Amino acid sequence: MADIKNLEGMIDSTPIMKDFADIESSKLPEYQIDSKIPEGPIAEKWTNYKAHQKLVNPANKRNLDIIVVGTGLAGASAASTLGEMGFNVLNFCIQDSPRRAHSIAAQGGINAAKNYQNDGDSIYRLFYDTVKGGDFRSREANVYRLAEVANNIIDQCVQQGVPFAREYGGLLANRSFGGAQVSRTFYAKGQTGQQLLLGAYASLNRQIEKGTVKSFNRREMLDIVMIDGRARGIIVRNLITGAIERYAAHAVVLATGGYGRTFFLSTNAMGCNGSAAVQAFKKGAYLSNLAFTQIHPTCIPVHGED
Ligand SMILES: Cc1cc2nc3c(=O)[nH]c(=O)nc-3n(C[C@H](O)[C@H](O)[C@H](O)COP(=O)(O)OP(=O)(O)OC[C@H]3O[C@@H](n4cnc5c(N)ncnc54)[C@H](O)[C@@H]3O)c2cc1C
Repeated sequence: MADIKNLEGMIDSTPIMKDFADIESSKLPEYQIDSKIPEGPIAEKWTNYKAHQKLVNPANKRNLDIIVVGTGLAGASAASTLGEMGFNVLNFCIQDSPRRAHSIAAQGGINAAKNYQNDGDSIYRLFYDTVKGGDFRSREANVYRLAEVANNIIDQCVQQGVPFAREYGGLLANRSFGGAQVSRTFYAKGQTGQQLLLGAYASLNRQIEKGTVKSFNRREMLDIVMIDGRARGIIVRNLITGAIERYAAHAVVLATGGYGRTFFLSTNAMGCNGSAAVQAFKKGAYLSNLAFTQIHPTCIPVHGED
């Protein structure tokens, strides 16, 4: 575990609420987003970067603590994967159980260019369709990475026991989704998110049982602790006792989901309120394209109603 005592003083002096306006006036003029996308041709940027990263010695991993805030598809996967790799993970969520994250509501399916249908699909085509679907505003190198790893994600989910729809012969089925001209969507009836989250949750529970992940539910993150420009801890409210608690680590991963609740019409859970993103913003993280949020058909009112 990190030397929590050394960090106590710094964490104690962290203001829990800081005036949003301070940040706006003091930092806005300096804003310049640098998403640190690696150099090189788009198809090689992240592969090349990964190949040249320093590795952590396996014996040292257990000496490193990582806080993961969130237990949705992003948080549960990150926490269980980091735990399996040997790091000490502290995993937080607002709900009474990690499996109540809003990912449970996703329905349609998950895309991967496995080209099972032999309809001409490829990683490049998935990349292109995703950039186009994102109104050409996405960071293209990151979308390419997403398209690249999508095939592995399907394999991982199958290994976790996610019951994707299958053809009568037993092969994984695909359907066309979102106007794509190829069939590349893997799905589990209309409850893909629920099944994916149950798989991720099972994997998370395995690591909790092994002791590599410690689960802190009913905790809401109120603040991020920065030390020498790096996120080194979080302040949370225990939603059962009301107590303010502090946790320290060598790194903090925010996997706190979307902020659909900031819109008047939303079918998102009440926790999807952007509170964690605001905390990151207050600590100097840059946010962009905030208005570019998916409008899901479930929140479009029937004609003639409010
Ligand atoms: C109705 C619906 C249908 C969808 N259909 C599809 C689809 O077909 N295909 C697709 O790819 N995507 C779909 N999506 C989108 C997809 O579900 C989401 O983008 C994805 O599940 C988000 O996962 P996540 O892990 O980032 O967030 P979430 O699942 O929302 O998890 C966020 C986690 O962060 C925690 N958290 C948040 N704030 C705090 C805080 N301050 N302190 C502590 N913990 C905090 C929460 O407790 C939760 O555990 C759909 C979404 C909806 C709502």
